[in-house]
Amino acid sequence: MDPNAYQVPAGPSPPPRQALPATLKQLLGVGEQELVPDARRRSNTLIFTVLGTLTLLMFGLANVRAGQDQRLMVMGVVQLLEVAFLLVPAIILISRRAPPVLSENMLVLAGFAIFASNVVFGGQTGDSPYWTFVFPYLVFFLRGQKTGWLVGVAFALLVPGLMLYSSRHWNFWNYGEGHCLYYGLAYLFNVVTAAYFNLLRSRFQAHLADQVEYHTGEVHKHMGTLQYNALHDLSTGLLNRQGLTERLESSLSPAIGVSGYLLVAHVRFFRVPELASIVGTAKVDQSLGQLGRVLQQHLAGLVGLARVGQDTLGIAMQSDTADAAAIEPLRAIAHLRDVTRLSEFAVHVEMAFGVVAQRLDEAADAEELMRNAEQALLFAIDHRQEYQFFDNLLHKHFVDRNRRYEKLREAILQDTLMLHYQPQVDLKTGRVVGAEALARWNDPQEGMIPPDKFIPIIESTGLLHRFSVWTVSRALRDCATWQSRLPGVSVSVNLSADALHDPEVLQTVERQLLASGMAPALVVMELTESVLLTSPEAALEAMARFVALGVQLSIDDYGAGFSSLTYLKQLPAQEMKIDKSFMENLAEGSKDRAIVLSSIELGHDLGLKVLAEGIEDEATCQVLRDAGCDLGQGWWFAKAMPSTEFEQWAVTRNHTVAKPSGRERDY
Ligand code: C2E
Ligand code: CA
Ligand code: CA
Repeated sequence: MDPNAYQVPAGPSPPPRQALPATLKQLLGVGEQELVPDARRRSNTLIFTVLGTLTLLMFGLANVRAGQDQRLMVMGVVQLLEVAFLLVPAIILISRRAPPVLSENMLVLAGFAIFASNVVFGGQTGDSPYWTFVFPYLVFFLRGQKTGWLVGVAFALLVPGLMLYSSRHWNFWNYGEGHCLYYGLAYLFNVVTAAYFNLLRSRFQAHLADQVEYHTGEVHKHMGTLQYNALHDLSTGLLNRQGLTERLESSLSPAIGVSGYLLVAHVRFFRVPELASIVGTAKVDQSLGQLGRVLQQHLAGLVGLARVGQDTLGIAMQSDTADAAAIEPLRAIAHLRDVTRLSEFAVHVEMAFGVVAQRLDEAADAEELMRNAEQALLFAIDHRQEYQFFDNLLHKHFVDRNRRYEKLREAILQDTLMLHYQPQVDLKTGRVVGAEALARWNDPQEGMIPPDKFIPIIESTGLLHRFSVWTVSRALRDCATWQSRLPGVSVSVNLSADALHDPEVLQTVERQLLASGMAPALVVMELTESVLLTSPEAALEAMARFVALGVQLSIDDYGAGFSSLTYLKQLPAQEMKIDKSFMENLAEGSKDRAIVLSSIELGHDLGLKVLAEGIEDEATCQVLRDAGCDLGQGWWFAKAMPSTEFEQWAVTRNHTVAKPSGRERDY
């Protein structure tokens, strides 16, 4: 159904004015149609039959008991017989749900008999025939115009005729001849009136039926539109989430012995929101709709394709396998010629998808499949993967993560996270010259949770801002308190890529420096290469703002990433931290050793201090010292510890080694 084809209805037209010939035709019942349903006809007949039965019983019994008048007694007996043989059978017919025409005709027949007996016997004073005036109304009402006329006119002739005949031959009651003629005319008048009344009634009924039909039609149309809207995304014309879920439901009845899978994939196009902000939502919607239709033609075994989010398509398709080969057609989206030609919507590689594979011979819940596909998609995006298949471990990952998120949020709000400090040692003198602030979370239920488990949650949610501000503020405050006993000992703070751009983090550093009067060079911001991933220019600008404060920058985890020399050259850093992954086999002489030695040399050539992290033994420490590495950090010296503990530890250590001239950390 095309939703645009639907127009607001103008309302039902008023009943047309009837021309005289048409009214005459209707009055006579030409082309008459039966509108009344059978059940209603039966109940109408039943009412008249029961009324007739009660009236006749009453009169019949009264007449039988009249005793002295033989005429009335016979009349009474006849009336009781009419009840027994005509009216009661009619009631039985109705109760047995016989076709209504049978009971109606039975009632008409009963009317004939009753009124004939009334006419013949004349009643108390010869006024019984007047009861027959009711009859035309009854017949018109029950059997419609045509039969009404037929029976009515027949009665208008028969009743006066019978009055005349019975007066002359049977002598139960004597009607005057003039009376019979007068009666016949009056009866005829009643027939015409009854015909007209019934016409009005049936017209009204027909009009009512028209209205009902019209409104029912309207309701159906509205229902159709509502149903369409409920299952479609109106701006693309594709199915919507609910539409796809319903498609899934109908194709998910488990079929025993059927092999293969139903794949449900959620495909997210990363640049859709950005494009929408440039060219407008309407154009992007149009392109997405077009893309959907192209895919509908290209994907074999397609069960349904829907827009399940502003930038996300949901695709359900059948497949023989549930492995990487099965999703090859989806991966090919980027290379479809028709798609890449879509003006506003260059797909290329800017998409990720999550897939759930459901065996066709197992029962499954459509809603759950949709949820799982979305979860797999989120996982793929989080881990910068092109796609991810759903499995139960992944679900657990999200449940745990969500639980952690709630608790972590609470911990940040309640200020129960902690910073521990790991000493950084000058390898030539052995003195402590700084400390790296490392976040610690001691959860009441789970115990100590390592930062690797909670920092990613912080980074991927809205908690990062608060956490980063808290970290720099706490680290700078702690460092300031050390200064009286550990003058010149610096603090290194890990800064996530996004936090680098957070103006409040910069302001916090500035404020704390002012408040404490601490030398800005005692603050070291540790950044990994990931800060350069999304927008290197913006990252360099942000770094420059920190450098302008006099703060130092350190390249963390050097060697663990791509370590592009181009970027290394551009970074306004003063320190390079060689990643701990290279330290393990350093003493034995290995490729790692070659990397570390050349990195130290490179760092020095670029004018950087070089710090080696992850030093776990004396031998490693010695190799680094011999290679001219400036600073060291690792369990060989100490693990990270609370601020006061670190202060005490460093004071003790620095007392035992000779103090060089000048500041501890000499940049
Ligand atoms: P990172 O910046 O590379 O920190 C050094 C990690 O190596 C720390 O792990 C530290 O405890 C560990 N380590 C130190 N010496 C040794 C050693 O001799 N051997 C070994 N095997 N490991 C050693 P930790 O504290 O678990 O931190 C892990 C990561 O979490 C950090 O890696 C950093 O990326 C992140 N992180 C920690 N605290 C913060 C923070 O406050 N902010 C941000 N953004 N990230 C943080
Ligand atoms: Ca670090
Ligand atoms: Ca590191």
